[in-house]
Amino acid sequence: MAAAPLRAIADRQLIIAIVGGSLRAASILRLLSEVDNIDVSAICSSNPTAPAVRLAEDLGIYSTRDYTEVYQIPGLDLIIDMSDDPRVHAALQSQRPSNVEMIGSSGSELVWDLLVAKKRGEEQEKLFVELQVAYDKIRSHERRLQSSKEALERANQELESRLAEIFFTHEFFKALTSFSSVDDVCSLIVDGANGILGAEISCVYLFEREDWTLRLSASQGRSEDAFEPVISVRDTILGTAFRDGLVQEADVPFGSDSSTWARNREDVRSQAAVPLRTGEHVIGVMVVASANFRELTPAELERLQVIGNQSSLSLQNALLHGELERLSVTDRLTELYNHGYFQQRLEEELGRSERFGHQLALIMLDIDDFKEFNDTYGHPRGDVVLKAVSDIIRSNLRDIDVAARYGGEEFVIVLPETDVQGAFAVAERIKDSMAAHKFATGEAIPPVHKSVSVGVASYPEHALTQSRLIEAADRAMYVAKRAGKNTVRVAE
Ligand code: GH3
Ligand code: MG
Ligand code: MG
Repeated sequence: MAAAPLRAIADRQLIIAIVGGSLRAASILRLLSEVDNIDVSAICSSNPTAPAVRLAEDLGIYSTRDYTEVYQIPGLDLIIDMSDDPRVHAALQSQRPSNVEMIGSSGSELVWDLLVAKKRGEEQEKLFVELQVAYDKIRSHERRLQSSKEALERANQELESRLAEIFFTHEFFKALTSFSSVDDVCSLIVDGANGILGAEISCVYLFEREDWTLRLSASQGRSEDAFEPVISVRDTILGTAFRDGLVQEADVPFGSDSSTWARNREDVRSQAAVPLRTGEHVIGVMVVASANFRELTPAELERLQVIGNQSSLSLQNALLHGELERLSVTDRLTELYNHGYFQQRLEEELGRSERFGHQLALIMLDIDDFKEFNDTYGHPRGDVVLKAVSDIIRSNLRDIDVAARYGGEEFVIVLPETDVQGAFAVAERIKDSMAAHKFATGEAIPPVHKSVSVGVASYPEHALTQSRLIEAADRAMYVAKRAGKNTVRVAE
């Protein structure tokens, strides 16, 4: 028998007729009807109420009692004989055209098993696919959960550090308003740079108008000797900030002069500087730096600017406060201390001498015939003499000595830890420098000399109390006057 080639069967519908109406035939019909390229065209059974016949009616499949009709189905490929009747089988077999295949009861068992297995496989596959889809969904949910958990943690960390920063910034600004000395404010500024920006190194230099330099006022992150104490306003990143404002060098070029404010070049790989200014005037420069590469973000640069702005206000206040304090103890004309400050300091120094058993000397000095000078050359020229005497006094003293204008044309000098001989030597030097100084008095008039008379007294040799010590020095000065002026006398 010439079977239809397999390819031809696979390419088109396989047309089948089922003979037999049993429950098993019905089951095969149901299974086959679900297979895509199989077309069950007819059911043939002698019992019109058999299960397979009823199912065929439900499915709209032709049914007949006459099995010879199956051979009239156009294109029939296969007869599945489930009649279990050898006579029917023999009759079908005898009339079967050569292009129609037929399988009997054992063949139909095989078809049954294959169909059931296929069905089961399909269901399993469907189940597997569903499982796979469900699993993928779970995995993607899990991934989304994990990434949102991580994002949440990151946000939390960010929030925490922002909170800490806000808290620190708040404390910093609060502290700024309550600090009044320049040194304290500068120390606070470098601490602020560290706390708010996490600056590894920070320092503040203050502008010195007299010589146009920047002087180190406070530093953090390295020992003080790691910083140049004085920088010209033209040099380094400090100079750039002084001139142009906020500046950052995230990657300082090797060998660049811009970081030479730090004595060790290795200390500065990245740096930024911001001027501290009040209105038009720059009063200082703050620098932050790191030995490692660090680029401040725009937000961090903004914070640096804010620190600079806020600090400037406090620093300006502290500078004004310091200036007021200085003015309150300074004599305007001579820039020496005033009488009040002299009394206060003498009291303090005497107390110290008493406690530590040190000596202390007091010099009192009066310009000779000053009234006459004023009368001859005028008060303004007299003022010039007063200033010159002050300069001469200053240039002959140590840092710990306290020189003051006692009043009019009289001066006092407190010399802590000094005995009479030491003070006498100082007084002599001042008197001699004074006598050597020439004062211009006007055109066509030759310069004149002014002399001073000086009295020296010391604690505890000449007096034990403040007022007695002043009296003793004063008396010695009058002795010098009576002795002919331009001379030094020690108290009795
Ligand atoms: P003696 O040598 O005895 O000290 O004589 P004297 O003229 O210096 O002393 P006297 O006390 O008679 O005069 C002090 C003068 O100092 C009187 C006053 O005009 C002058 N004097 C005081 N304060 C100032 C000042 O601020 N500027 C000027 N130009 N003169 C002053
Ligand atoms: Mg006098
Ligand atoms: Mg005088």
